[in-house]
This record gives sequence, structure tokens and C-alpha cells, in this order.
Amino acid sequence: MKKNEVTSTCCYCGVGCGVKVQLDTHDLVTVTGDGDHPVNRGKLCSKGMNLQYTVNDRSDRLHYPQMRYHRNMPLQRVSWDDVLTRTAAVFRTLISTYGPDSVAFYASGQCLTEEYYVVNKLMKGFIGSNNIDTNSRLCMSSAVAAYKMSLGEDSVPICYDDIELADCLLIEGGNPAWCHPILWRRVEAHKAENPKTRIIVVDPRKTDSASIADIHLQIQPGTDMVLNYAIGRLLIENGDIDVDFIENHTEGFAAYKARVFERTVAEAAWICRVPEGEIRQAASFIGASKSLLTLWTMGLNQSVKGVDKNLSLIDLNLITGRIGKPGSGPFSLTGQPNAMGGREVGGLANLLPAHRDLKNEAHRREVADFWGGTVLSDKPGLTATEMFDALADGKLKAIWILCTNPLTSLPDARKVEQALKNAKFVVVQEISNKPQTLDYADVILPAAGWAEKEGTMTNSERRISHLHKIIDPPGEALPDAEIICRFAQKMGYSGFDYATPEAIYREHTRLTASTSIQVNGLDYALIDSHRTIQWPYRKRRNAGTPRLFEDHRFYTPTKKAIIHSPDTEMASEQPDADFPFILTTGRIRDQWHTMTKTGKVSKLKQHISEPLLEIHPNDAERLGIKERQLVEITSRRGNVRVKATISNVIKPGCVFLPMHWGKQWGSDLNRANNLTNPLIDPVSREPDFKFCAVRVVPY
Ligand code: SF4
Repeated sequence: MKKNEVTSTCCYCGVGCGVKVQLDTHDLVTVTGDGDHPVNRGKLCSKGMNLQYTVNDRSDRLHYPQMRYHRNMPLQRVSWDDVLTRTAAVFRTLISTYGPDSVAFYASGQCLTEEYYVVNKLMKGFIGSNNIDTNSRLCMSSAVAAYKMSLGEDSVPICYDDIELADCLLIEGGNPAWCHPILWRRVEAHKAENPKTRIIVVDPRKTDSASIADIHLQIQPGTDMVLNYAIGRLLIENGDIDVDFIENHTEGFAAYKARVFERTVAEAAWICRVPEGEIRQAASFIGASKSLLTLWTMGLNQSVKGVDKNLSLIDLNLITGRIGKPGSGPFSLTGQPNAMGGREVGGLANLLPAHRDLKNEAHRREVADFWGGTVLSDKPGLTATEMFDALADGKLKAIWILCTNPLTSLPDARKVEQALKNAKFVVVQEISNKPQTLDYADVILPAAGWAEKEGTMTNSERRISHLHKIIDPPGEALPDAEIICRFAQKMGYSGFDYATPEAIYREHTRLTASTSIQVNGLDYALIDSHRTIQWPYRKRRNAGTPRLFEDHRFYTPTKKAIIHSPDTEMASEQPDADFPFILTTGRIRDQWHTMTKTGKVSKLKQHISEPLLEIHPNDAERLGIKERQLVEITSRRGNVRVKATISNVIKPGCVFLPMHWGKQWGSDLNRANNLTNPLIDPVSREPDFKFCAVRVVPY
């Protein structure tokens, strides 16, 4: 390590790449890939390589707390003491008048574990409501529910090293070449060194990930389950299932077999709009391989049938017995850097710390006794979209939004805007003066950003890393955890006077003792001595656990994995004569979420600088749309006006819009979420971002 050099972890996606941060004498940082890090081995993608510019450019940063006493009054600069005293007074009044469920916290998968921990403890353990949810609800909640239903726990069973051990990778509903680039570099290198490794990509778009696939199944959006069942049927017919594993380690196979035989492969091919031969070829690749890594992300998760889609893919690992073995297992690629850490501390409206169950009375008592606050409510809290519905109809009075930008990221964004207008009290805890939520804030709390605070994160292979504080935050900005703890003390609650972030971390680890995510015994020094470590932590051996379920004993009551076979009925909004296209939304290569950080870097705009509607050449010709012509896209909820890009990346009848852009200079016509549907999965409560009906006309 050089002088003035500190190790950290990239703050963008769930891949969790290691970085080295150097600080110069002018307090400017330089970020490079950490060659000793097990995840990225020195490499960084375009976002990680430009991380230093987002830290060094402080032109948009919030420097001091602001508050207004009335909606018609302007915001004014106030002290931390004044702002937190008044915010606590408003919260106390609302809670005593309308009850604890009248307030809510909406946080983020970008929060550090310590931040999640204290906000969850404050809300569930002291205010007495479970109205604490995060934007991970928009991202991973379908995968969480499916892991619990099939494996008994929200536990990603694989490790990244399984990539190089896999001889067949099935990637469904994801474009890791753009969205998880450093993992994808490992897939590409593995394929280059081992050309017989089979790569199957399932996606309605011909993505960069599809370009190295042996087979790209360009399915009709929403038909993933039909395809997975057809592959399941073929594996059974071809004798490519693991009968011994199914009999000894799973339940539900008979119902699954009946389900997948309800439809012929030819019928499935017609529904998915792919050649039958390609489905047969994909099944034969899986059948002929010795290992199977299934990878997926938002294409399956962000769906009104998100949990069912996840289950149907995990089923393929279970019927082939390819789980808990080198190169095998179901691997949900996490979108955000610390969605996993948030779930560890119970940071969703339906969870308790260390993956305890909100509905379990013993679990609630255990946590309440540990925290020493109030009795924990068994009523699940409002989830992300439900919070804004409750604000709109007046049931929820106050919302505290931290580290997220819901007016760009939630579906049916104009409705979300109305909901915030209707709120009695809005607190926005933010690093930047850019997010549109600030227009609705009664209180603005300036927060410290990446490298300006200390804490931990867990990446998508359960790998915990310690992020050091490297520079001071600007002005009076404070670390998020400190803001929450100061507020809790203003509310009169004890147990929030932590001397350091590590004191919070140690308290969290004690709550994990004897649970499946056990990290009790870890502290910052111990994590640093390993550089990173994967939970569960084996205290006696002082070691992490790269791969789960190697003993084939799952976390279900019977220790058997459960093969589910839900129906394939389509529940999304269907196209019709008025709205004939299917709109799907997603990310572009060089931008991150709502661009608060990556939008500041001009280099990152060189790839794609504006939102473009991707439309197939046949559809463009029929509608008289020319390349880069302005078009209007309309759904039942709103409209967008952007330029068209004509491309056979997308299927005929479908269009694609990037999700990053929000309201700019008073216009919201770049915002894809004006169009998206707030339909949610009944189990995971995750919205149907990947499918809604729209009309497209030249403007
Ligand atoms: Fe950061 Fe993800 Fe890129 Fe790695 S792959 S550098 S974690 S954005």
C-alpha cells in the first residue's frame, strides 16, 4: 500500500469491486482497482473508473440543514440542533395523534449496513411501526421471497468463483455485460479459455451479454416461466435430472412434473415466440453439462409474477441437483451495492434482523428484548409503492426519504409526485441538491457520501467489506447513521448513543449469533485482516463460507429444498388496439440509477447521452419513424417524449426505454416511469417495471 492509500469498495453495483483510494494534499481522491481483491482483481468498469470525479466534484453537494415552518414559506438554513428538535416534535405529534403507522422511512440499498441497522431499530424497536422499506423493494425482493420459499432462507448459495467452475451458464432477464460488467469480464474470460463452456442467454433484447451466447433465446417479454417449464420438461424427458437428489433433498417434484407436462414444447415455443429447436438445444446443453449456474436479475425480479419467475428458474437447479456444488447454483445478481447488508439487519417492511421473521412471536420478543425499546408490531409495514399510495390517500402523514430518489425510480411517477404533495411532512436526507424530492421537502438533511463515512457493505456473494472514511464531508453534512442516531436521541429513545460506526456494527453482529447469517465475532479489524469475508462467519475457524448447502441440507423445516410449480398465467397489462406495444425499461452501460452521481461525469455521457426509445426497424417503418426523430410514448398513466433509435436489438412489437432520467429543467418528459405500471407482485410487492402497454407516435 502506498502512503495516503486506503482500501474500499465501489459504491455502485452489487458486484462489490475492491478499490484503492489515494488522497492528495488538496483532499482530492484518485480511485484505482485493487489488484489484491478477490472479486475484481484490479479491474473496474466505466462507472468504477470514474468514481473519483463524483467524489471530487462537490458543486452539487448539500452543505447545511434546511427547514421551512410552513409549506408556503421558503426553506431556510438552520442548525442541526434546531432541525432535529423540530423534526422530532413533528414526529411525536403525528405519532401521538394518528399512531406510529402514520410515519414511514424510505431508505436505500446504497445505505451502509450500520445505517440500515439504526433506522430499522429506530422504526421497529422504538417508534413501534414496521413502515421502513427501501428501494431494494424495487430490485431484489422477488429473489428474496423465492430463495426463502425454495431454500428456506434468503441466502445466495453460490460464490463468484463458481463462474470459472461452471460448464453451463444460463442467464435470464439480465444484461450483466452492462449492469454487472466486472463479473461479466470473468464470464467472458472463462468462455475464452474454455470454449466448450455453454452460455445460454434469455432476453427479449439482443444485448451485449447475448453476443457471446451459444444460444440467445429472444423470448416475448413475460414468457420466462413458460420457457423454464419447457426446459424442465425436456430435462425430465431426456433423463437429464438427478433422481437421487430429487428424492433425498427436495419436495414438490410430482406437482412440478405434472405442471411442466401441461404444455408441449411446441406450444411453449409458440408462446415464447422462439424456435422450438432452440429450446431443445438449450435443454440439451444443460443436460450434457456437469454443472449449471443460473444467473438472473431485474428481468425476472421486476415483475408482477417476479417470485414465480424466480422459482421456475431455481427449479432447474433443483431438478438437476446442481446446487451446493462447484460451478452450480441459482445466483441472483444484486443491483445495489448493499441490498444484501440491508436484509441482514432486517431493513425491509416485512423482515426482522438476521433474517428473523416478523410473523414469529418468539423472534419479535427476542429482538425487542435485545433492543430494550417497545414491543414489536406483527403488522407488516408499508412497502415502497404502498407508502406513496398511503401518502396519497392520507393514511400516511410523514415520510423520511434517505439516500434514494423515488420521483425518478418509482413506477407511475406522476402519481408519486401527487402523493408527496399530499404529505403533511417530508424529510429528505440527501447528498446532492439535484433530486426532485427536494422540491417537496419540509426538512433537508445534508448527508455524507461515499469515502466520507465509515461502515460495511455486503455484495451479492455474501461478501462483507469494510469501507473506511477517507475525507471529511462538505460543510455540515453528517454520516447517515449519525443523523438517525441524533434524531432518535431527540425523540427521547435510549440505545442510540454509539461512540463509533463500529459500535453499531458489533451490536448488529451480536443479533446474528446462532442464525444462518452468523457474523457474531466479526469486527472491523477482523474484516480488514481478511480484506473481505463471506457470511456465515465460522468463528472457531476464523473463516467465511464461500458456498452454501454443500451438505444438501436446506433451511426449510424438513431440510429439503422445495420445488415450486406456480401457474404461468400472464398478469401484466396487455397490449390492445389503443396501446399496441410492450414497453420494457432498464439500465444503460455507463449510468447508475437516477444519475445523481454518474450524471456528473461527462465521460460517462459519451456512450449514451440522452434517453432514446429503442424500436424495431419494421415497427419504425410502419409508423413512419426516422432515426433520432422525436416520438411520443403514451401509456394509461402518462407520456414521454424522446428521440427514437431504430435497432433490431429489440423484438418487433416491443420498445425499450432507459430508466435513469427524471424531471429536468421543469420537464418530466424524459422520465420512463411516467409510463410504467404500479402493479406489484402479490408476494414480494415488487413492481412490474418490465412490462406495460404503450402507444408510440412520431411527434
Ligand atoms: Fe463498481 Fe459494479 Fe463496476 Fe464493479 S462492476 S466497478 S462494483 S459498478
